[in-house]
Amino acid sequence: MQTSYDHDNIFAKILREEIPCIKIFEDEHTLAFMDVMPQTSGHSLVIPKEPVSTLYELSDEAALACIKTVKRVGKAVQQAMNINGSTVFQHNGKDAGQTVPHFHIHILPGSLFGIKGHAAEFADPDELKITAEKIIACL
Ligand code: 5GP
Repeated sequence: MQTSYDHDNIFAKILREEIPCIKIFEDEHTLAFMDVMPQTSGHSLVIPKEPVSTLYELSDEAALACIKTVKRVGKAVQQAMNINGSTVFQHNGKDAGQTVPHFHIHILPGSLFGIKGHAAEFADPDELKITAEKIIACL
């Protein structure tokens, strides 16, 4: 099912710099930043600058750019969090549990077992900044 894009979603506002984010990496086509409600320390998000809601509307060019950024940021997340594994996932549509309707890829250091609930609890912004700096140092 095709979904229309909501230009007022929170990640669209982050891309327009109307609301802040704790940025890790940015290039022409993508932005990576800390999840404000991390399921585990180091939980990061990669988004395309292209305004689409789900994977199924994403252009091939933006998909490639996202995967390149996920590879770069994911390796840095693993190194920064001192763990030799990570989980990469994304949701497509409300029925799949997507809460922000701008396509995004989650990077979680480690596994999905024993972590906090999805979008459940805000982290201390100062701790997020410290974690972001560690990840940036590993890029
Ligand atoms: P989804 O449920 O759409 O796959 O994931 C959305 C993610 O965005 C959740 O993990 C949630 O914690 C995160 N999130 C929601 N609002 C904000 C925000 O304003 N800033 C940041 N950085 N992350 C957010």
